[in-house]
Amino acid sequence: MTSNGAGGATALATLKNYVAGEWRQPASTASREVVNPATGEPISVVPISGPEDLDAAVASARGSLPSWRATATSSRVAHLFALRELMRQRQDDLARSITTEMGKTLGDAAAEVGRAIEMVECATAATTTMQGRNLENVARNVDCETVRQPVGVCAAIVPFNFPLMVPFWFLPFAIATGNCFVLKPSEVVPNTMNLAFELLEEAGVPAGVANLVNGDKTVAEGILDHPGIDAVSFVGSAPVARHVYSRAAANGKRVQALGGAKNFMVVMPDCDLDRTVAGLIGSAFGAAGQRCMAGSVVVAVGDVYERLLAALTEATEAIAVGNGLDAEVEMGPVVSGAACWGIEGWIERGVEEGARAALDGRGNVRGAGSFVGPTILDGVRPEMAVAQEEIFGPVLCLMRADDLGEAIEMVNGSRFGNGTSIFTESGAAVRRYRHDVEAGMIGVNIGVAAPVAFFPFSGWKESFFGDLHAHGPDAVDFYTRKKTVTTRYFSQQPTGSFFTDK
Ligand code: NAD
Repeated sequence: MTSNGAGGATALATLKNYVAGEWRQPASTASREVVNPATGEPISVVPISGPEDLDAAVASARGSLPSWRATATSSRVAHLFALRELMRQRQDDLARSITTEMGKTLGDAAAEVGRAIEMVECATAATTTMQGRNLENVARNVDCETVRQPVGVCAAIVPFNFPLMVPFWFLPFAIATGNCFVLKPSEVVPNTMNLAFELLEEAGVPAGVANLVNGDKTVAEGILDHPGIDAVSFVGSAPVARHVYSRAAANGKRVQALGGAKNFMVVMPDCDLDRTVAGLIGSAFGAAGQRCMAGSVVVAVGDVYERLLAALTEATEAIAVGNGLDAEVEMGPVVSGAACWGIEGWIERGVEEGARAALDGRGNVRGAGSFVGPTILDGVRPEMAVAQEEIFGPVLCLMRADDLGEAIEMVNGSRFGNGTSIFTESGAAVRRYRHDVEAGMIGVNIGVAAPVAFFPFSGWKESFFGDLHAHGPDAVDFYTRKKTVTTRYFSQQPTGSFFTDK
């Protein structure tokens, strides 16, 4: 195994790209420091690649495509079985890398690693899931079949908040189905993907099948325009998702673009209050609110509001904030100083708009780390900006609704539709909620309706641009093209008339 030695490491090292089965110094000399958000210390240097570096990766992927798509599907997924074992062996290193560069707690990072491994496991089923369908005798002695073939060279552009899991929503499925792949990780958290690509190399994935190009939006824009790329998967903020979708589609590419979120959690008066509070807190403050599935607005229905506010405030005050590497810490930093200031600005805006800070996490100074304490804004109304815009930090807004119908109107009033949850023991309320609510992921007494590898995952409305969602059966549809073949043999027997035959 060759390695640039930087995967998940704490020593300062300059990362490289992984192209054509080699760790390569990019032609571009631009770079930026990767910082541990809990300490403010630099942990590595990531190259900011240029167009020629992307060209090299695409050329490598295109060059490997003919032999990879011709490789037996069972042989392709054998590499994923090997990768799965390597990921299990290195799961602690992967989790530590995630925490060190992104800030979430080690427990949360370990859960992310588990989810990424599940994605690999799911992709190993390609020998079954990639099968086509056929029908004998569409006319007498004429058969028709649809086969699935890889799309070609596929690329993904991914965000900072899940350095391992989000890239793995795409990579294992793309290569299992015979595509070659180009990944641009988030320039904010590139170390974990560096380690993951070391494992892909160790798993024997052939040169050129999976390529890693570090960089920022210049590489991303290059992907959208590159004639050698056939399909693009994007995950990130809503404005960029919209842009990626329209530009990649205008260039004739297949595209799925998962965007931002404003997730509502509805609490009914009959809920199990203690367990509901635990669920709300895990959703709002886990990963310091930096999950696309984080609940950021609670809609309390009827007389549960006061009870809920008191219980939520008490439990939130007890959250231990600090460096996610410390075992007792329950909430880590936000990703950067800039994120910190942005989130504090949102808290200020909420207060200016008339909300009351029942808990105020501003000024949560801990050395050079970028910390915002858990914050609860009480008395938020639907027209306030804090109820409408994505804050992406540990800020929970509380709103009041008289009944379930009004709560559903509030949820559906959002221009986003990523995920939403309802907390109740009433089957009738759940039935109505899941039927009427406009969102892609629904949790019933589940605060984070997290991605399950074997099911499709994505939002609705401005949280998603495209039609095929991530992973599960949708991944096979996204990463394959269908080809329909109609067959007869004249030497066999007389055949029935087919289309233009008399
Ligand atoms: P971001 O949009 O800033 O960056 C995402 C990726 O796009 C990065 O790789 C970045 O380099 C690239 N990029 C940035 N600007 C670009 C541009 N103008 N053109 C092309 N590419 C560009 O997002 P982020 O801050 O890394 O991540 C947080 C966001 O991601 C949040 O809005 C969150 O809700 C969203 N997210 C959504 C999901 C989902 O499933 N819907 C999952 C995770 C994160």
